[in-house]
Amino acid sequence: MVYLTCVLSRAEVLAMKNKSMTAEKETGSPDKAPRGHAQKKTFCRICEVHCGLRVDFDAEGAITSLRPDHEHPVSQGYVCAKGTRFLEVANHPKRLMHPLVRQPDGTYQQVSWKEALDYFKERIRPILKTAGPHAIALYLGTPAIHNILGGLAYIGLARALGTRNLYSAGSQDNDSKMVASRLVHGNEWIAPIMDLEQADFALLFGTNPAVSQGTYMHLRGGTTAFDRFKKRGGDMVIVDPRRTESVERWGGHVPIHPGTDIFLLLALLHELRDLSRPNPRVSGLDELLKVAAGYPAERAALLTGIPLERIRELASSIRQAERATLFLSVGVNQGPFGTLSSVALQALAYLSGNFDREGAYCFSRGALCSDGWSSFRHSVAALAHT
Ligand code: SF4
Repeated sequence: MVYLTCVLSRAEVLAMKNKSMTAEKETGSPDKAPRGHAQKKTFCRICEVHCGLRVDFDAEGAITSLRPDHEHPVSQGYVCAKGTRFLEVANHPKRLMHPLVRQPDGTYQQVSWKEALDYFKERIRPILKTAGPHAIALYLGTPAIHNILGGLAYIGLARALGTRNLYSAGSQDNDSKMVASRLVHGNEWIAPIMDLEQADFALLFGTNPAVSQGTYMHLRGGTTAFDRFKKRGGDMVIVDPRRTESVERWGGHVPIHPGTDIFLLLALLHELRDLSRPNPRVSGLDELLKVAAGYPAERAALLTGIPLERIRELASSIRQAERATLFLSVGVNQGPFGTLSSVALQALAYLSGNFDREGAYCFSRGALCSDGWSSFRHSVAALAHT
């Protein structure tokens, strides 16, 4: 196997993470560029929130620090503990700077890029010939996904090989949301997001934004958006098996048995079924409500461990809120019902009148809009001519 990435042991990664989490300041970086240092704007590529960063360089052009960018129009100086710590990964003594080839005795030998590519060809060609292209799987990590050339090269290599087996950080994280979007909207790139700034009530499942803003969130000022929400009297409920850092910071904890969020969502749909109205643009809701009828609040209480009255209170909070916003994240995405939970959450937002409107569950026009990659290509082509 050829390794072309950074190899750190789990213990080393955890040590870095713990150091970051216990840092007195979340960012662990100075607020201002050291005197005489040049700086450039960039963004964090660890998740698709892309928080703004500043890079400082010394006189030789070496990077000396990563700092939050307070002038970034969306993140406004917010970064989680990971963003500004990436320099520790980049400068880690065990970071791979050259291709390594594993030897029969299990050790690794450094080789040139030409040798690595020759080795790759020698290994791949017989597999293609004897087992076909689908015997080969590709995996793309997050920093490469968030590098446009990395993504394009990945697609190019996949096409050249002819394999359908493509994996990425999303395979472990949020692909269930994309499948749900294809089922609900006919397009995996249509991703509703919270409008926390204008909501009165927020119901969150399996997410811990006090630690990292995370995927599909994109809030002004990151975590500080929740502080603002609470400060102006917003009511927030966090459904999570664990008493997370977010629960410690904002309260509203509803503990739930792991992997049972879908039963709560179905029970909430059932509780609010009277709000269903015929709509020629919507199909399938009646079938979903029939499924939900099999999970009334009494049964959901047994399955989730949430008291019956608390489930009814949650339904009532959604019903009474002028603007309710709903969100689920990796804790549910990775569970046994990730896709169905995302479908049910969108149905709940629609049923309760909180779909595609201010203060609720909204849609971004974005670069990847309704017709996905073809639209993206058009957007890029148009940009190239401006
Ligand atoms: S939330 Fe953290 S990991 Fe994600 S882009 Fe911002 S700084 Fe990077």
